[in-house]
Amino acid sequence: MDFSVLEVANTWRVLVTGAAGFLGSHLCDLLLSRGHHVTGMDNLMTGHMSNLASAMRNSAFEFIEHDVLIAFDGVFDQIYHLASPASPPVYQKHPIETAKINFLGTLNALELAQRTGARFLLASTSETYGDPEVHPQTESYCGNVNQTGPRACYDEGKRIAETLAFDFHRMRNVDIRVVRIFNTYGPRMNPNDGRVVSSFIDQAIEGRDITLFGDGSQTRSFCFYMDLIVGLERMMNADDITGPVNLGNPEEIKIAELAISVIAMTNSSSRVVNRALPEDDPKLRCPDISKAIRLLNWKPEVSLQEGLAETIAYCRKNLLRAST
Ligand code: NAD
Ligand code: UDP
Repeated sequence: MDFSVLEVANTWRVLVTGAAGFLGSHLCDLLLSRGHHVTGMDNLMTGHMSNLASAMRNSAFEFIEHDVLIAFDGVFDQIYHLASPASPPVYQKHPIETAKINFLGTLNALELAQRTGARFLLASTSETYGDPEVHPQTESYCGNVNQTGPRACYDEGKRIAETLAFDFHRMRNVDIRVVRIFNTYGPRMNPNDGRVVSSFIDQAIEGRDITLFGDGSQTRSFCFYMDLIVGLERMMNADDITGPVNLGNPEEIKIAELAISVIAMTNSSSRVVNRALPEDDPKLRCPDISKAIRLLNWKPEVSLQEGLAETIAYCRKNLLRAST
Protein backbone atom coordinates (compact mmCIF):
# COMPACT_ATOMS: atom_id res chain seq x y z
CA MET A 1 0.00 0.00 0.00
CA ASP A 2 1.29 3.47 -0.85
CA PHE A 3 0.97 5.38 2.42
CA SER A 4 1.82 8.67 0.71
CA VAL A 5 -1.52 8.81 -1.10
CA LEU A 6 -3.38 9.17 2.19
CA GLU A 7 -3.78 12.67 3.54
CA VAL A 8 -2.41 13.98 6.84
CA ALA A 9 -3.82 17.16 8.29
CA ASN A 10 -1.47 17.66 11.26
CA THR A 11 1.79 16.57 12.78
CA TRP A 12 1.31 14.89 16.16
CA ARG A 13 3.45 13.73 19.07
CA VAL A 14 2.44 10.09 19.21
CA LEU A 15 3.13 7.34 21.75
CA VAL A 16 2.83 3.73 20.58
CA THR A 17 2.95 1.12 23.36
CA GLY A 18 3.87 -2.37 22.15
CA ALA A 19 5.96 -0.67 19.44
CA ALA A 20 8.42 -3.53 18.89
CA GLY A 21 5.66 -6.02 18.14
CA PHE A 22 4.17 -7.09 14.84
CA LEU A 23 1.43 -4.46 14.56
CA GLY A 24 3.10 -1.78 16.71
CA SER A 25 6.22 -1.66 14.54
CA HIS A 26 4.22 -1.35 11.32
CA LEU A 27 2.13 1.37 12.94
CA CYS A 28 5.30 3.28 13.91
CA ASP A 29 6.50 3.07 10.29
CA LEU A 30 3.16 4.37 9.01
CA LEU A 31 3.06 7.26 11.50
CA LEU A 32 6.67 8.23 10.69
CA SER A 33 5.85 8.18 6.97
CA ARG A 34 3.12 10.73 7.77
CA GLY A 35 5.67 13.07 9.41
CA HIS A 36 4.61 12.55 13.03
CA HIS A 37 7.03 12.46 16.00
CA VAL A 38 6.76 8.94 17.33
CA THR A 39 7.80 7.48 20.68
CA GLY A 40 7.75 3.70 20.76
CA MET A 41 7.54 1.95 24.12
CA ASP A 42 8.04 -1.77 24.68
CA ASN A 43 9.53 -4.15 27.25
CA LEU A 44 10.41 -6.68 24.50
CA MET A 45 8.29 -9.41 26.10
CA THR A 46 7.20 -10.70 22.67
CA GLY A 47 8.48 -7.90 20.43
CA HIS A 48 11.92 -7.56 18.83
CA MET A 49 14.13 -4.55 18.10
CA SER A 50 14.67 -5.93 14.59
CA ASN A 51 11.04 -4.96 13.83
CA LEU A 52 12.00 -1.35 14.50
CA ALA A 53 15.12 -1.31 12.31
CA SER A 54 13.75 1.24 9.85
CA ALA A 55 12.03 3.36 12.54
CA MET A 56 15.32 3.56 14.48
CA ARG A 57 17.00 5.20 11.48
CA ASN A 58 14.42 8.02 11.55
CA SER A 59 15.31 11.05 13.73
CA ALA A 60 11.59 11.59 14.45
CA PHE A 61 11.52 8.25 16.30
CA GLU A 62 12.51 7.56 19.89
CA PHE A 63 12.44 4.14 21.55
CA ILE A 64 11.90 3.68 25.28
CA GLU A 65 12.39 0.22 26.74
CA HIS A 66 9.78 0.19 29.47
CA ASP A 67 7.15 -2.05 31.04
CA VAL A 68 3.68 -0.47 30.90
CA LEU A 69 3.00 -1.99 34.33
CA ILE A 70 5.20 0.80 35.70
CA ALA A 71 3.57 4.25 35.39
CA PHE A 72 5.16 6.51 32.79
CA ASP A 73 5.05 10.11 31.71
CA GLY A 74 5.50 12.28 28.64
CA VAL A 75 3.78 14.88 26.50
CA PHE A 76 1.70 13.42 23.68
CA ASP A 77 -1.21 14.32 21.42
CA GLN A 78 -2.13 10.71 20.67
CA ILE A 79 -1.54 7.37 22.40
CA TYR A 80 -1.99 4.06 20.59
CA HIS A 81 -2.07 1.40 23.33
CA LEU A 82 -1.04 -1.95 21.86
CA ALA A 83 1.15 -3.42 24.62
CA SER A 84 -0.11 -6.91 25.41
CA PRO A 85 0.78 -10.47 24.48
CA ALA A 86 -1.52 -11.52 21.63
CA SER A 87 -0.84 -15.14 20.78
CA PRO A 88 -2.89 -17.82 22.63
CA PRO A 89 0.12 -20.07 23.50
CA VAL A 90 2.06 -17.06 24.81
CA TYR A 91 -0.68 -15.50 26.90
CA GLN A 92 -1.68 -18.93 28.24
CA LYS A 93 1.93 -19.41 29.35
CA HIS A 94 1.79 -16.03 31.16
CA PRO A 95 -1.85 -15.71 32.24
CA ILE A 96 -1.40 -13.64 35.39
CA GLU A 97 1.01 -11.24 33.65
CA THR A 98 -1.44 -10.95 30.72
CA ALA A 99 -4.36 -10.02 32.95
CA LYS A 100 -2.14 -7.52 34.80
CA ILE A 101 -0.79 -5.94 31.61
CA ASN A 102 -4.29 -5.42 30.25
CA PHE A 103 -5.64 -3.97 33.49
CA LEU A 104 -2.74 -2.08 35.08
CA GLY A 105 -0.93 -1.31 31.82
CA THR A 106 -4.10 0.13 30.31
CA LEU A 107 -4.79 2.07 33.52
CA ASN A 108 -1.29 3.60 33.36
CA ALA A 109 -1.72 4.51 29.69
CA LEU A 110 -5.15 6.06 30.34
CA GLU A 111 -3.84 8.07 33.30
CA LEU A 112 -1.09 9.41 31.07
CA ALA A 113 -3.68 10.28 28.39
CA GLN A 114 -5.66 12.19 31.00
CA ARG A 115 -2.57 14.08 32.33
CA THR A 116 -1.26 15.04 28.92
CA GLY A 117 -4.64 15.58 27.21
CA ALA A 118 -3.93 12.96 24.55
CA ARG A 119 -6.46 11.08 22.48
CA PHE A 120 -6.26 7.40 23.44
CA LEU A 121 -6.78 4.38 21.19
CA LEU A 122 -7.12 0.90 22.68
CA ALA A 123 -6.19 -2.10 20.54
CA SER A 124 -8.91 -4.45 21.77
CA THR A 125 -9.80 -7.74 20.16
CA SER A 126 -12.44 -9.99 18.65
CA GLU A 127 -11.64 -12.26 21.62
CA THR A 128 -13.96 -10.03 23.69
CA TYR A 129 -16.74 -11.94 21.84
CA GLY A 130 -15.34 -15.25 23.16
CA ASP A 131 -16.85 -18.29 21.43
CA PRO A 132 -19.59 -16.26 19.73
CA GLU A 133 -23.23 -17.21 19.44
CA VAL A 134 -23.88 -14.29 17.09
CA HIS A 135 -22.32 -14.61 13.66
CA PRO A 136 -20.88 -12.50 12.12
CA GLN A 137 -20.01 -10.49 15.20
CA THR A 138 -21.48 -7.01 15.54
CA GLU A 139 -20.20 -4.48 18.06
CA SER A 140 -23.50 -4.59 19.98
CA TYR A 141 -22.96 -8.30 20.80
CA CYS A 142 -21.73 -8.63 24.39
CA GLY A 143 -19.95 -11.93 23.81
CA ASN A 144 -19.73 -15.42 25.25
CA VAL A 145 -16.51 -15.61 27.27
CA ASN A 146 -15.69 -18.42 29.70
CA GLN A 147 -14.27 -16.31 32.50
CA THR A 148 -12.58 -19.25 34.22
CA GLY A 149 -11.05 -20.82 31.10
CA PRO A 150 -7.46 -20.64 29.83
CA ARG A 151 -8.20 -17.82 27.34
CA ALA A 152 -9.88 -15.64 29.98
CA CYS A 153 -6.65 -13.88 31.04
CA TYR A 154 -6.61 -12.28 27.59
CA ASP A 155 -10.35 -12.10 26.79
CA GLU A 156 -11.34 -10.72 30.16
CA GLY A 157 -8.15 -8.64 30.26
CA LYS A 158 -9.22 -6.88 27.07
CA ARG A 159 -12.80 -6.59 28.32
CA ILE A 160 -11.68 -4.80 31.51
CA ALA A 161 -9.35 -2.66 29.35
CA GLU A 162 -12.39 -1.58 27.30
CA THR A 163 -14.34 -0.93 30.53
CA LEU A 164 -11.51 1.24 31.86
CA ALA A 165 -11.34 3.21 28.60
CA PHE A 166 -15.08 3.92 28.66
CA ASP A 167 -15.00 4.88 32.37
CA PHE A 168 -12.08 7.28 31.78
CA HIS A 169 -14.20 8.77 29.01
CA ARG A 170 -17.37 9.05 31.10
CA MET A 171 -15.79 10.12 34.40
CA ARG A 172 -12.64 11.99 33.33
CA ASN A 173 -13.46 13.18 29.85
CA VAL A 174 -10.60 11.33 28.15
CA ASP A 175 -11.02 11.23 24.38
CA ILE A 176 -11.03 7.48 23.64
CA ARG A 177 -11.17 5.23 20.60
CA VAL A 178 -11.73 1.47 21.04
CA VAL A 179 -11.12 -0.90 18.14
CA ARG A 180 -11.73 -4.65 18.18
CA ILE A 181 -9.07 -6.19 15.96
CA PHE A 182 -9.83 -9.53 14.25
CA ASN A 183 -7.03 -11.95 13.28
CA THR A 184 -4.36 -9.98 11.47
CA TYR A 185 -1.26 -11.41 9.81
CA GLY A 186 1.74 -10.42 7.72
CA PRO A 187 5.49 -9.87 7.74
CA ARG A 188 7.11 -9.45 11.19
CA MET A 189 4.77 -11.92 12.90
CA ASN A 190 6.88 -13.94 15.27
CA PRO A 191 7.06 -17.43 13.69
CA ASN A 192 7.57 -18.98 17.12
CA ASP A 193 4.56 -17.48 18.86
CA GLY A 194 2.19 -20.22 17.67
CA ARG A 195 -0.32 -18.13 15.74
CA VAL A 196 -1.78 -20.04 12.86
CA VAL A 197 -0.67 -18.14 9.74
CA SER A 198 3.02 -17.85 10.61
CA SER A 199 3.07 -21.38 12.06
CA PHE A 200 1.54 -22.98 8.95
CA ILE A 201 3.79 -21.00 6.60
CA ASP A 202 7.01 -21.90 8.44
CA GLN A 203 5.95 -25.54 8.76
CA ALA A 204 5.14 -25.69 5.03
CA ILE A 205 8.36 -23.99 3.89
CA GLU A 206 10.46 -26.31 6.04
CA GLY A 207 8.49 -29.42 5.00
CA ARG A 208 7.43 -30.12 8.57
CA ASP A 209 3.98 -31.46 9.54
CA ILE A 210 1.20 -28.85 9.46
CA THR A 211 -0.40 -28.92 12.91
CA LEU A 212 -4.15 -28.64 12.40
CA PHE A 213 -5.98 -28.25 15.70
CA GLY A 214 -9.27 -30.17 15.86
CA ASP A 215 -10.85 -31.11 12.53
CA GLY A 216 -10.11 -27.67 11.09
CA SER A 217 -13.78 -26.76 10.65
CA GLN A 218 -13.38 -23.74 12.96
CA THR A 219 -13.31 -20.48 11.01
CA ARG A 220 -11.32 -17.25 11.19
CA SER A 221 -11.23 -14.14 9.02
CA PHE A 222 -7.72 -12.92 8.27
CA CYS A 223 -6.83 -9.27 7.68
CA PHE A 224 -3.54 -8.15 6.14
CA TYR A 225 -1.53 -5.86 8.46
CA MET A 226 -1.46 -2.89 6.06
CA ASP A 227 -5.23 -2.71 5.88
CA LEU A 228 -5.43 -2.98 9.65
CA ILE A 229 -2.99 -0.23 10.58
CA VAL A 230 -4.64 2.17 8.13
CA GLY A 231 -7.87 1.35 9.98
CA LEU A 232 -6.22 2.14 13.32
CA GLU A 233 -5.06 5.49 11.98
CA ARG A 234 -8.50 6.31 10.53
CA MET A 235 -10.12 5.50 13.87
CA MET A 236 -7.63 7.64 15.81
CA ASN A 237 -8.22 10.63 13.56
CA ALA A 238 -11.99 10.33 13.18
CA ASP A 239 -14.02 12.88 15.11
CA ASP A 240 -16.88 12.23 17.53
CA ILE A 241 -16.50 8.49 17.79
CA THR A 242 -15.52 6.31 20.72
CA GLY A 243 -16.28 2.87 19.29
CA PRO A 244 -16.06 0.04 19.79
CA VAL A 245 -15.50 -0.52 16.09
CA ASN A 246 -14.60 -3.90 14.56
CA LEU A 247 -11.58 -3.89 12.25
CA GLY A 248 -10.94 -7.04 10.26
CA ASN A 249 -11.43 -8.75 6.96
CA PRO A 250 -14.85 -10.41 6.60
CA GLU A 251 -13.41 -13.04 4.18
CA GLU A 252 -14.10 -16.09 6.40
CA ILE A 253 -12.21 -19.35 5.93
CA LYS A 254 -12.04 -22.75 7.65
CA ILE A 255 -8.64 -23.40 9.22
CA ALA A 256 -8.41 -26.69 7.27
CA GLU A 257 -8.79 -24.65 4.04
CA LEU A 258 -6.08 -22.28 5.20
CA ALA A 259 -3.73 -25.26 5.63
CA ILE A 260 -4.49 -26.44 2.08
CA SER A 261 -3.93 -22.93 0.63
CA VAL A 262 -0.61 -22.52 2.42
CA ILE A 263 0.62 -25.93 1.24
CA ALA A 264 -0.38 -25.13 -2.34
CA MET A 265 1.11 -21.62 -2.32
CA THR A 266 4.43 -22.82 -0.88
CA ASN A 267 4.51 -25.87 -3.14
CA SER A 268 5.19 -27.87 0.00
CA SER A 269 5.41 -31.61 0.60
CA SER A 270 4.19 -31.19 4.20
CA ARG A 271 1.33 -33.34 5.41
CA VAL A 272 -1.47 -32.17 7.65
CA VAL A 273 -1.59 -33.80 11.08
CA ASN A 274 -4.48 -33.34 13.49
CA ARG A 275 -3.81 -32.23 17.04
CA ALA A 276 -6.27 -31.68 19.89
CA LEU A 277 -8.39 -28.56 19.66
CA PRO A 278 -7.34 -26.21 22.48
CA GLU A 279 -9.92 -25.57 25.21
CA ASP A 280 -12.41 -22.77 24.44
CA ASP A 281 -11.06 -22.34 20.89
CA PRO A 282 -13.79 -20.22 19.19
CA LYS A 283 -15.66 -22.23 16.52
CA LEU A 284 -16.55 -19.28 14.31
CA ARG A 285 -15.17 -15.80 13.87
CA CYS A 286 -16.03 -13.17 11.31
CA PRO A 287 -16.40 -9.42 11.76
CA ASP A 288 -19.41 -7.41 10.75
CA ILE A 289 -17.56 -4.30 9.52
CA SER A 290 -20.54 -2.19 8.49
CA LYS A 291 -19.75 0.29 11.29
CA ALA A 292 -16.15 0.75 10.08
CA ILE A 293 -17.37 1.19 6.50
CA ARG A 294 -19.99 3.77 7.53
CA LEU A 295 -18.02 5.73 10.15
CA LEU A 296 -14.44 5.44 8.90
CA ASN A 297 -14.95 4.80 5.20
CA TRP A 298 -12.65 1.82 5.79
CA LYS A 299 -12.63 -1.69 4.40
CA PRO A 300 -9.78 -4.12 3.69
CA GLU A 301 -8.26 -3.99 0.23
CA VAL A 302 -5.81 -6.92 0.33
CA SER A 303 -7.21 -10.40 -0.40
CA LEU A 304 -6.06 -13.43 1.59
CA GLN A 305 -4.26 -14.78 -1.50
CA GLU A 306 -2.29 -11.53 -1.99
CA GLY A 307 -1.51 -11.16 1.70
CA LEU A 308 -0.42 -14.78 2.08
CA ALA A 309 1.87 -14.47 -0.96
CA GLU A 310 3.63 -11.46 0.59
CA THR A 311 3.87 -13.15 4.00
CA ILE A 312 5.26 -16.35 2.48
CA ALA A 313 7.94 -14.35 0.62
CA TYR A 314 8.90 -12.62 3.88
CA CYS A 315 9.05 -15.92 5.83
CA ARG A 316 11.17 -17.55 3.12
CA LYS A 317 13.68 -14.69 3.27
CA ASN A 318 13.75 -14.83 7.07
CA LEU A 319 14.31 -18.57 7.22
CA LEU A 320 17.07 -18.29 4.62
CA ARG A 321 18.76 -15.53 6.65
CA ALA A 322 18.49 -17.64 9.83
CA SER A 323 20.08 -20.65 8.14
CA THR A 324 23.10 -18.79 6.69
P1 NAD B 1 2.90 -8.74 19.43
O1 NAD B 1 3.08 -9.75 20.50
O2 NAD B 1 3.72 -8.85 18.20
O3 NAD B 1 3.06 -7.27 20.01
C1 NAD B 1 2.75 -6.92 21.34
C2 NAD B 1 3.88 -6.03 21.86
O4 NAD B 1 3.57 -5.61 23.20
C3 NAD B 1 5.21 -6.76 21.92
O5 NAD B 1 6.22 -6.00 21.30
C4 NAD B 1 5.47 -6.91 23.42
O6 NAD B 1 6.85 -6.97 23.75
C5 NAD B 1 4.77 -5.69 23.96
N1 NAD B 1 4.43 -5.81 25.38
C6 NAD B 1 3.82 -6.86 25.99
N2 NAD B 1 3.74 -6.62 27.30
C7 NAD B 1 4.29 -5.40 27.53
C8 NAD B 1 4.50 -4.61 28.68
N3 NAD B 1 4.13 -5.03 29.90
N4 NAD B 1 5.10 -3.40 28.54
C9 NAD B 1 5.49 -2.96 27.33
N5 NAD B 1 5.33 -3.67 26.20
C10 NAD B 1 4.73 -4.87 26.30
O7 NAD B 1 1.33 -8.78 19.05
P2 NAD B 1 0.52 -7.99 17.92
O8 NAD B 1 -0.13 -8.99 17.08
O9 NAD B 1 1.38 -6.94 17.31
O10 NAD B 1 -0.60 -7.30 18.82
C11 NAD B 1 -0.58 -5.93 19.15
C12 NAD B 1 -1.86 -5.57 19.87
O11 NAD B 1 -2.99 -5.80 19.01
C13 NAD B 1 -2.11 -6.36 21.14
O12 NAD B 1 -2.69 -5.52 22.11
C14 NAD B 1 -3.14 -7.40 20.71
O13 NAD B 1 -3.95 -7.81 21.78
C15 NAD B 1 -3.92 -6.63 19.66
N6 NAD B 1 -4.55 -7.56 18.71
C16 NAD B 1 -3.81 -8.17 17.73
C17 NAD B 1 -4.43 -9.05 16.87
C18 NAD B 1 -3.68 -9.75 15.75
O14 NAD B 1 -4.27 -10.59 15.06
N7 NAD B 1 -2.42 -9.46 15.50
C19 NAD B 1 -5.80 -9.34 16.99
C20 NAD B 1 -6.50 -8.72 18.02
C21 NAD B 1 -5.88 -7.81 18.86
N1 UDP C 1 -4.47 -23.35 14.90
C1 UDP C 1 -4.14 -24.54 14.28
N2 UDP C 1 -2.83 -24.90 14.25
C2 UDP C 1 -1.82 -24.12 14.78
C3 UDP C 1 -2.18 -22.91 15.38
C4 UDP C 1 -3.53 -22.56 15.44
O1 UDP C 1 -5.00 -25.28 13.77
O2 UDP C 1 -0.65 -24.52 14.70
C5 UDP C 1 -5.91 -22.94 14.93
C6 UDP C 1 -6.41 -22.57 16.31
O3 UDP C 1 -6.88 -23.72 16.99
C7 UDP C 1 -7.51 -21.58 15.97
C8 UDP C 1 -7.03 -20.91 14.69
O4 UDP C 1 -6.03 -21.77 14.14
O5 UDP C 1 -8.71 -22.27 15.71
C9 UDP C 1 -6.44 -19.53 14.92
O6 UDP C 1 -5.46 -19.64 15.93
P1 UDP C 1 -4.54 -18.43 16.39
O7 UDP C 1 -3.76 -18.92 17.57
O8 UDP C 1 -3.76 -17.89 15.26
O9 UDP C 1 -5.56 -17.27 16.80
P2 UDP C 1 -6.92 -17.22 17.63
O10 UDP C 1 -7.91 -16.72 16.66
O11 UDP C 1 -7.29 -18.57 18.13
O12 UDP C 1 -6.62 -16.27 18.73
